[in-house]
Amino acid sequence: MPPATGWTGSRQLLRRLRNVMAGAGTAQQRLDQIVRLIAGDMVAEVCSCYVMRAGEVLELFATEGLKPEAVHKTRLGLGEGLVGDIAAHMRPLALADAQSHPNFAYRPETGEEIYHSLMGVPIIGAGRVRGVLVVQNRTQRNYTEEEVETLETIAMVLAELVAGGQLIDPSEPLAADPAAGHQFRIEGVRLSGGLAIGSAVLHQPRITITRMIAEDPQVELGRLRSAVTGMRSALDAMLAAPDVSAGGELRDVLETYRMFAEDRGWLGRIREAIQSGLTAEAAVQKVLNDTRARMSQITDPYLRERLLDLEDLNNRLLQHLTGTMATAETALPEDVVLIARSMGPAELLDYDRARLRALVMEEGSGTSHVAIVARALDIPIVGRARGVLEKVEPGDRVVVDADNAQVFLRPSDEIVDSFEQSVRAREAAQRHYAALRDQPAETVDGTVVSLNLNAGLLIDMSNLDVTGADGVGLYRTEIAFMVRSEYPDVKVQTELYRRILDRAGNHPVTFRTLDVGADKKLPYFEHEDDENPAMGWRSLRIGLDRPAILRQQIRAMIAAAAGRRLRIMFPMVTEVAEFDAARELVNAELERCRRHGSPVPAPLELGTMVEVPALALQLPHLLKRVDFLSVGSNDLLQFLFATDRGSPRLSERYDSLSPVVLRLLADIARHGEKAGVPVTLCGEMAGRPLEAMALVGIGYRSLSMAAVSVGPVKVMLRSLPLVALQSYLASALDRADHSLRGVLQAFARDRGVIL
Ligand code: PEP
Ligand code: MG
Repeated sequence: MPPATGWTGSRQLLRRLRNVMAGAGTAQQRLDQIVRLIAGDMVAEVCSCYVMRAGEVLELFATEGLKPEAVHKTRLGLGEGLVGDIAAHMRPLALADAQSHPNFAYRPETGEEIYHSLMGVPIIGAGRVRGVLVVQNRTQRNYTEEEVETLETIAMVLAELVAGGQLIDPSEPLAADPAAGHQFRIEGVRLSGGLAIGSAVLHQPRITITRMIAEDPQVELGRLRSAVTGMRSALDAMLAAPDVSAGGELRDVLETYRMFAEDRGWLGRIREAIQSGLTAEAAVQKVLNDTRARMSQITDPYLRERLLDLEDLNNRLLQHLTGTMATAETALPEDVVLIARSMGPAELLDYDRARLRALVMEEGSGTSHVAIVARALDIPIVGRARGVLEKVEPGDRVVVDADNAQVFLRPSDEIVDSFEQSVRAREAAQRHYAALRDQPAETVDGTVVSLNLNAGLLIDMSNLDVTGADGVGLYRTEIAFMVRSEYPDVKVQTELYRRILDRAGNHPVTFRTLDVGADKKLPYFEHEDDENPAMGWRSLRIGLDRPAILRQQIRAMIAAAAGRRLRIMFPMVTEVAEFDAARELVNAELERCRRHGSPVPAPLELGTMVEVPALALQLPHLLKRVDFLSVGSNDLLQFLFATDRGSPRLSERYDSLSPVVLRLLADIARHGEKAGVPVTLCGEMAGRPLEAMALVGIGYRSLSMAAVSVGPVKVMLRSLPLVALQSYLASALDRADHSLRGVLQAFARDRGVIL
């Protein structure tokens, strides 16, 4: 049933549009006819089309209803007025009372003051805003969701005319920047560290859809069906590839992703769009545009990740439909720097890894699947590099300095030279670290420090071999939970832990029980909306309140150990009683094993993280109960300084090398030594050579860090006169300074410690 406003149905309108677009006359004449047609069909007094011009200015190109003299005269900047707002946010607006909207900008030449309601949608082509399509009514009309959708469909069809180079000279640059073609430095966030130089390859091959309006929806539905089948088989083949099927979590990530390919809601929306008169590829594109528009509103990180996966699938399906399947393997340059809006893990794996040097994305977060996979494969990524897609051209030279979260487009020769030097120095350092692999981490005066790895993916386990580390000091089990779409049962967990222990061989592995909550959310678990999530219902607090989860994890670890050595560590312990309660659960599981005659781990070591200051004040009691401690300085410092560890604004405010921190950490180490309980430190500071030097100076003999840090920390240790450092630090710790960083740097410089 057509709505009461007198719609003639979008399919009919699309047909008429097609006739006009294919008809005679100049592009301008056709656009004039089109706005008339839309206004009539939508029972709107006004229909206007704004086109994006150089300098990111939206120019009124055609109108039915506004004053004709405003055409080619009215111009709005990106973000200016409601039209600019629609373009800037790439999202539709439907307002019954447009003039009361804070962004309303009145343009007298248009005569639009008499129109109260407004509905507008962006015209998007090749992922960019090409213009805005608007209808207006005199009355305060409440446009329906269906009407917005129809206008979006029309805008998609119009994109062809607007972006097709007939309305404006195709050589007119869209970029605002007069310096287009010049070098740029873009800042983002570091999602996976490293340095790389290469040629820009745009990830999305900018597929051009040539046919928008369908003759027969049944034919299009058939094309969709075969494309979906083709896409599913390609995903299956990817899952079966040897490096993926052996890759543990890599496989889980892809399987989650494969699930989306079965998603009825998504395919249903595409079918609906086909029924409205679009071709299959135009329908997929429409769903992709809608998804992007919705994405810009969503802040929940988990949901955003799922939408990114979905976007990835949309693209994949589009490629199957248009036959543009090749990721241009043949045309790929030797050194590829991939540039993408966002990317799913499967897409990254499509590229030839031997050529892939780095990835730069407009979006992305550290917990995104693609970041987890890239880190495991050692591919540097800079995420949230805003504007990179606008500025880059395929083939441009790009320098990616992911360590410092920056990207240089078309860099000058000096920048390239200096980066090539850095890359060479880095490679030389890697060779040096590799040569030290089997050398002990021993100070010049003979103290040996145990260096261990922080890990979270099965693929990380190969780093034991690469670095020569003593063991895994922190295995973050929650990462495996985070990359799955459903809760892994005891069987799945047992298999995972067994594979980790198998790969570790004789190296000890310290499994940390689930540390979720705060910024680590599980898709299938209801998290509390605490006001301060870092201090909320998280980690062991969840484990003790929902003992089934913790019990199953412990059961799986015990089964995986199958009589071998097992180290279990509890996170976020705040009082001794919580450790006791957790230990009770372990004891009950051991008892269960004995009853069933299954092997119990030997030895079984239980410990806690020290992440909450309150626990650091109960050490004498705690140390009587535990087999080991590991200081989680990331959390301990955030609670000590009352400073959100993720806040960029506060990240430099307090220093991890302040005398207060070092006194507290020294105290923990001293208590451990006195009680004969080994103490490790596994927060980020352990992996920074200067911090590691200070830690060893105040008594730490075991550190756990990311694999890339093992080499630099070992080099530091092998040049460190420890006894001299100890006496140097003795008096310094009592100071009231903001930080001892300068003092420690001076020591290192004077005593030849390599940092
Ligand atoms: C820490 O808090 O220091 C720690 C190692 O744990 P995570 O970073 O996983 O919170
Ligand atoms: Mg922590």
